[in-house]
Amino acid sequence: MDARTLTEQVLKRCELLSHCTDVPGQVHRLFLSSATRAAHRYLTDWMKEAGLEVRVDPIGNVRGIKRSKNPQARTFLVASHIDTVPNAGKYDGTLGVLMGIALAGLFRAEDLQHHLEIVAFSEEEGVRFQQPFLGSSVLAGTFQSDWLKKKDFENQSLSETLFKWDLDQNRIPIEAFEPRELLGYLEIHIEQGPVLADQNLPVGVVSGIVGQSRLNLTFLGQAGHAGTTPMPLRKDALTGAAEFICWTEEYALSNPGLVATVGKVEVRPNTSNVIPEQVTVSLDVRHLSDEKRVTAVQELLHQAHMICQKRNLGLQHEFPLDQQAVICEDRFMEALLDACKFCGLPEFTLPSGAGHDAMVLAKVTDIAMLFVRSPNAISHHPSETVEPEDVEAALKASGHFLSQILR
Ligand SMILES: [Zn+2]
Repeated sequence: MDARTLTEQVLKRCELLSHCTDVPGQVHRLFLSSATRAAHRYLTDWMKEAGLEVRVDPIGNVRGIKRSKNPQARTFLVASHIDTVPNAGKYDGTLGVLMGIALAGLFRAEDLQHHLEIVAFSEEEGVRFQQPFLGSSVLAGTFQSDWLKKKDFENQSLSETLFKWDLDQNRIPIEAFEPRELLGYLEIHIEQGPVLADQNLPVGVVSGIVGQSRLNLTFLGQAGHAGTTPMPLRKDALTGAAEFICWTEEYALSNPGLVATVGKVEVRPNTSNVIPEQVTVSLDVRHLSDEKRVTAVQELLHQAHMICQKRNLGLQHEFPLDQQAVICEDRFMEALLDACKFCGLPEFTLPSGAGHDAMVLAKVTDIAMLFVRSPNAISHHPSETVEPEDVEAALKASGHFLSQILR
């Protein structure tokens, strides 16, 4: 099948899966919901059509494998997720799964030096049990048994949910791959950001997934009457926080590759005629280099202290998240860039600012990711879209990449 026809098939299937939804009129497919069951029926049929042996594993991942006859064969995984956020778009996760199935159909088992396994991960977003990456964590061996006690909004535990689906949770540990069993992992995903669109590029090779620090900073001042407290005698926690927020933006702008965001502000007492006494701001800092990220956090904290000293404010901080960056494997990046060149596409690399299942699989194998342009950078939203020419470009490049890796 030529790439254009394959693209039409992939996009038609994205459309069909978008109708497997828990909320009519929206794309809203929760982990192990009835909509997921409908999606599983489609996926099973399409995987079989592509010549894959299909099963649903104990966490509800749909897995299709094409086995090599080579006794030394290892498994190469091509995967993404099929759960969605509420009122989502049609392509986040789903596109990568359906492209994987389409690509698998291009290979004959007798030509494969390694097994090719396509996985539709059951839960990446973490909407139902507030625990992301459930599907991929089982393959990576990082699934924690106390997650089984987590409850959904109807007070049903993960354990009960698996039982109702006839999934045997005792088998979860044996699904974990040993690193020696795997050759690698590829995830094709929409970019969900503006970089490829800004550069006018159809696809980009991902260099890694950025590490992330999350902090909460509390500026402590003194409440006072907005009319009776003269300006020089004030300890205004909000003006201190505001100075810090602007400084954070300037700092990130002057450090390439760094993104820093204050997305949440809580003001006490939050009243128009009272000087703010306490302001808590969130701070999210990301960079592909862990060293640069850690330095940035230190410098931002130092600056917050300086601002507070100058303004006679107190400062407290907590550090709820410190997640390291994951780097994509060099030889896979090279192979993907070569594949782009071979297909007449520009060779472009970019980091991923968002987390993906690839990050979890990196604990057991070498990973690669290919991004497809997100027009208007819109994702996690009904107007999320892709251009057919970009999907076609991604199919060509990843098809060439796989043929180099698997044959
Ligand atoms: Zn996704």
